[in-house]
Amino acid sequence: MAVLVTGGAGYIGSHMVLALTDAGQDVVVLDNLTTGFAWAIAPQAKLVQGDIGDEALVEHIIKTHNVDAVVHFAGSIVVPESVVDPLGYYLNNTVKSRALMAAVVKAGVRNFIFSSTAAVYGNPKTQPVFETELPSPISPYGTSKLMTEMMLRDSHLAYGLNYVALRYFNVAGADPKGRSGQSTPRATHLIKVACQTVLGQRASMDVFGTDYDTHDGTCLRDYIHVSDLISAHMDALAYLRKGGESGIFNCGYGKGYSVLEVIGAVEKAFGGPVNKKLVPRRAGDPAAIVAGASRVREILGWEPKYADLDLIVNSALAWERHLQRRNAA
Ligand code: UDP
Repeated sequence: MAVLVTGGAGYIGSHMVLALTDAGQDVVVLDNLTTGFAWAIAPQAKLVQGDIGDEALVEHIIKTHNVDAVVHFAGSIVVPESVVDPLGYYLNNTVKSRALMAAVVKAGVRNFIFSSTAAVYGNPKTQPVFETELPSPISPYGTSKLMTEMMLRDSHLAYGLNYVALRYFNVAGADPKGRSGQSTPRATHLIKVACQTVLGQRASMDVFGTDYDTHDGTCLRDYIHVSDLISAHMDALAYLRKGGESGIFNCGYGKGYSVLEVIGAVEKAFGGPVNKKLVPRRAGDPAAIVAGASRVREILGWEPKYADLDLIVNSALAWERHLQRRNAA
């Protein structure tokens, strides 16, 4: 019995592979290595370099490795990029997910865990936002993920494919044992960018929008430590294998921080200022999004261990220093 992890060479996927191999499970990774790194994959896992849209390849992997569950991370993840290249996002995130699911259904695999996103909510009417809120994405990224959730819902009803879709809020931080972290050099996510700036890898960073309807005018997000996010996936896997009901779960802590507060936490962790410029809003950004996160605790039994912004930022900064030392060597 093995778990197929798509995108297992990427930031979040590589942490899932570590958790699975730490738990003694057999893992096969399918990744095209366009944004991921082979070195980020735990040595106990097997890597197949290929495309999730290649149905014959996916079927072959499932049969040869006796796969009983698929955890699907592979995809494109940058909101502003999706605004300028929507068709690229619908291809990578929606069309290819459809091909992956077709192969999974054909091969008879029953358990499917999907990386979804808080971006499916768009600008929610309520904060925190619960899973019962009607999704209304404001970016092609959010729409591309929502369409995959819909395909899962319909495939569950039609073919008996059991699934858990986890709607991630803002994922940050690194493996507490220092084995993986956010490694994309041109990453666009706030904590990574702020860490790179404070370490002198960028001359300065932009704060996108200071006129939002929030306490300091900058956007509010719910930042979740990558290791806590992964423990929700491990809980979801155990839940599905025990025959749990398919469903959708928010993954966040239920507390929002503004962009300026996050930058302040990076300054505190580093002990010096972040050189920043206040610039206009970025396309596709909702003002605030904070998770209503009771469902994942109640139904999957999730218990976060790292729910603290300073802890998240410290681990992200430690990983950034590690990358800097490695690149200098
Ligand atoms: N952000 C920013 N400067 C940056 C990167 C991000 O001001 O260099 C802001 C962004 O506009 C948003 C928040 O930080 O309000 C979180 O953005 P990120 O890209 O990290 O995640 P997203 O919420 O888009 O998935």
